[in-house]
Amino acid sequence: MSFSKKIILVVDDELELERLIKQRLRKRIRTQELDFLFAHNGSEALDILKSSKRIDLILTDINMPEMDGLTLLGFIPEVDPTLKAVVVSAYGDMKNIRTAMNRGAFDFLTKPIDFQDLEITINKTLKFVEQVREQQHQIRQAHKQRQLYLQELIKAKEIAEKANYAKSQFIANMSHEFRTPLNIIIGNSELLQARAQKSDPEYFIPRLDKIKNSSWHLLNLFNDILDLSKMEVGELEIYQENTEISSLIEELITNVRPLSEKNNNALEVIYLNNPGRILTDPTKMRQILLNLLNNACKFTEQGTVKLIVQKSDGTAEIEDKFNSPSTTIPDLGQHQRTKPSITFQVSDTGIGISQEQHSKIFQPFSQVDESDTRKYGGAGLGLAIAKKLCDLMGGQITVDSELGKGATFTVSLPIEWV
Ligand code: ADP
Repeated sequence: MSFSKKIILVVDDELELERLIKQRLRKRIRTQELDFLFAHNGSEALDILKSSKRIDLILTDINMPEMDGLTLLGFIPEVDPTLKAVVVSAYGDMKNIRTAMNRGAFDFLTKPIDFQDLEITINKTLKFVEQVREQQHQIRQAHKQRQLYLQELIKAKEIAEKANYAKSQFIANMSHEFRTPLNIIIGNSELLQARAQKSDPEYFIPRLDKIKNSSWHLLNLFNDILDLSKMEVGELEIYQENTEISSLIEELITNVRPLSEKNNNALEVIYLNNPGRILTDPTKMRQILLNLLNNACKFTEQGTVKLIVQKSDGTAEIEDKFNSPSTTIPDLGQHQRTKPSITFQVSDTGIGISQEQHSKIFQPFSQVDESDTRKYGGAGLGLAIAKKLCDLMGGQITVDSELGKGATFTVSLPIEWV
């Protein structure tokens, strides 16, 4: 038991008890080990409990005027759940003693009080209360520590977010700065090319081509970095327009056809139904599909690149028109949505991507194999941008691929009818 003074509240309407206790326990009262407060019924006891005094143990009679001991027991957990009570009742009053124990009394004593037994019960109960309070104290301390730790984590997260925002803002600004001189280089090399036709074309044209192509490459890279930074700082917004899907796709195919032909690929577009006109952000949709089609053409040689388009009103089951073994139309149903949507599947028969790489390839600057960079080119930004754009538009993008067995990227975007 600790050496701080323990306070015991005695609740009894027998005034004689106060005198007896003070006399029998005078030594422990004098040495400040114990102190006693006295109340003559449950109400008085409750008033004392509600005053700021810290009580360590209640010793209560059961039958008293105004408020009896059993009623008082019911209030104790509300005032202090760590406080324990010992009831004192007439020998043989088993019914009340049972009720008291059921209401949370810690122990009981019978009258006439045996003071040796009283001291043993007091010591045992005080020890128990002290242990419970110590445990509660430790739990509170641990909780406080946890709160502090959480606050520190939140602070660190805020600092990291601020730094990340500043970094993205800086990259966005720098990319802007890079674009202007690059556009000047591209424009002037085109002018020089026109002139070079007249003077020494064999010498000038290939060199100017190199300058122009490298500048275009850099410009595209900076555009990607700029887009990614804008998305990271939340500056990219959706602009919905009435869009004819088939003309958007025609334009995309014209764009990727040169790369597809260079790699001897067949390029196919399949409409599972007529998408017609929809309300969407065509610039972002174009950017997502261009990245996927470019990759499909880039990572496939002497194979097939296929774009499958399907509009869904969100309720009908997708009709599997191409269920014969000779045609390999991936299952668009995996992206089926409950709301109207348009689904694009870009599949190729190229080098494929291993299962472990599926989630990594959507991270910025990630490429399956660094040696591919030299062979195929690229900065590992296209899919990260496509994923962020899909998220921004409320859609989703997934990949299904195995190494050496081609790849299928599926994009679903929510739409509104025009
Ligand atoms: P990159 O500019 O390098 O193509 P992406 O973000 O578009 O960047 O793609 C990341 C990586 O994912 C690529 O470098 C490549 O390793 C892999 N990848 C993407 N599309 C395909 C595909 N159709 N077939 C095989 N690998 C692909």
